[in-house]
Amino acid sequence: MSVNPARQILAAATLLALLALSGCTAGPVFHARQITAAPPSPAVPTNTPSASPTATARPAHGSLDWYVSQVPTFPEAPPPQPVPMTATGAIPFWHRLPTDQKVAFITIDDGGLARPPAVPDFIREAHIPVTMFLNSPAAEEHDDYFRQIQAAGGVVENHTIRHTSLAGRSYDYQKREICGAADRLETLFGKRATLFRPPFGEYDSTTLTAARDCGAKAVLHWSETVHEGKVRYQTPRKVVQPGDVLLMHFRPALMDDLLAALKAIHRAGLTPALLEDYIR
Ligand SMILES: [Zn+2]
Repeated sequence: MSVNPARQILAAATLLALLALSGCTAGPVFHARQITAAPPSPAVPTNTPSASPTATARPAHGSLDWYVSQVPTFPEAPPPQPVPMTATGAIPFWHRLPTDQKVAFITIDDGGLARPPAVPDFIREAHIPVTMFLNSPAAEEHDDYFRQIQAAGGVVENHTIRHTSLAGRSYDYQKREICGAADRLETLFGKRATLFRPPFGEYDSTTLTAARDCGAKAVLHWSETVHEGKVRYQTPRKVVQPGDVLLMHFRPALMDDLLAALKAIHRAGLTPALLEDYIR
């Protein structure tokens, strides 16, 4: 997220100017921030209409600009302090990251079911840090789509080849599923996966060994799920905690899920951050 204080001041000034010009009472906060956050270039992105004479029009509900306009302004993210890792032995399995920093993490799984076309633009324009746990066949079939998200700052991680439950399966079976996907994803996206999420969150000690042997530094579960625009908490205290990992999927309502996750993180006084900045 773009949270440079100087930019925020600039954004506030820009907002006041916009308000004075337009009389518009809602919506332009994030757009104003987007303009000031853009690199110094005469070219204003064509899909950022707030810089054009029609800037005062409120974006149509459900449009990309509407989604961007709904994104809260977050507190500045702290400089990431990577969590402690053991140098040898078993890799950790985490529902949430052991950090007190005021951050939470957005993760998106699978990739084969649905890929809403506006999602890469949303992630880029709203600077949403995301980690994608992909099944390698879906990643291969739709690699252009996931590369767009990668280009917007998203990171591709490993979610096996066939999305079968690994718990109780042999080491060889699990290694084939995990290393096979890691190899394919590395070829497709130019980076070895360092995180692994087992399908359905089902795993055993063999999974941790196989994932480590395939290059993973940690195995991730989740603390909240998000589906059709609703956040489902795993604990009675319905608030996102520092270090929480939010799980959603490449499903038709992913735009709503991303927005719901961002709002929940904002309500908790946290800022979205990238898992890979904390697990090194
Ligand atoms: Zn999955």
